[in-house]
Amino acid sequence: MSATQTDDRVVLDDLEIGEIANELDDQEPEDVIDWALDTFGDRLAIVTSFQADGLAILDMAYEVKPDVRVITVDTGRLPQETLDYIEQMQARYPLARFDIEHPDEREVEAMVDRHGLDLFRESVPMRLVCCQIRKVRPLLNALEGLDAWFTGLRRDQWASRAAIRKVELDHDHDGIVKVNPLADWSADDVAEYLEEREVPLHPLYAQGFTSLGCAPCTRPIQQGEDDRAGRWWWETNAPKECGMHCPIETGGFEHEFHAILGEAHGDDD
Ligand code: SF4
Repeated sequence: MSATQTDDRVVLDDLEIGEIANELDDQEPEDVIDWALDTFGDRLAIVTSFQADGLAILDMAYEVKPDVRVITVDTGRLPQETLDYIEQMQARYPLARFDIEHPDEREVEAMVDRHGLDLFRESVPMRLVCCQIRKVRPLLNALEGLDAWFTGLRRDQWASRAAIRKVELDHDHDGIVKVNPLADWSADDVAEYLEEREVPLHPLYAQGFTSLGCAPCTRPIQQGEDDRAGRWWWETNAPKECGMHCPIETGGFEHEFHAILGEAHGDDD
């Protein structure tokens, strides 16, 4: 499996990534993680919201590279349980380099002044504006300078994720490589792994949550619902995505989003 080294960067093209994906798609998550850490080293980070999937990847990667980089975003609306759990995991993986990103205060202030704290309840476009400002933009800043990132995406989570491969070129984020080691695992596979490794789960799982995010936008699921049904549950016909993992067509949240950025930074942004 080859990759091109330019200065410090490792760059792969579509043909190369296709060949690598073919080789890795049948392999175990640990093998995919080994390949990624070996290929990208410090220019690779785990991006996680501390759900079970991200923890499984962190636990596997820590075995190979204890000083692995871990990026998360404190959106300002996370439940206290998540903030406490992050501290708990920092203690469990003391050598890992945790980077907690925050949204730009001016952008949050401009958004809240204009639309209120809970604008996400108004409409899908308003929800996406909130996700862009509180979560997606801080993550985009964190991805700058990286050649690859690990995600905990699984194919069985939602229709928009059904076709993901274990490694992909992330054309939405500057063509860096997106590594999805758990693509073919189920939630049960992840739970089994964590139990065997005695990794404590985020406490909200015990309360019926199956997908974890901001406190006002996440609830436990009902029996028979999909894992991501507890995210933005009041919306109909909208993707259960914040916009980080796939482009979202919603009829124009971008206009409002750019207006808010203009207010936050002046019209030069
Ligand atoms: S999940 Fe809700 S509160 Fe969090 S960033 Fe998205 S819309 Fe805003």
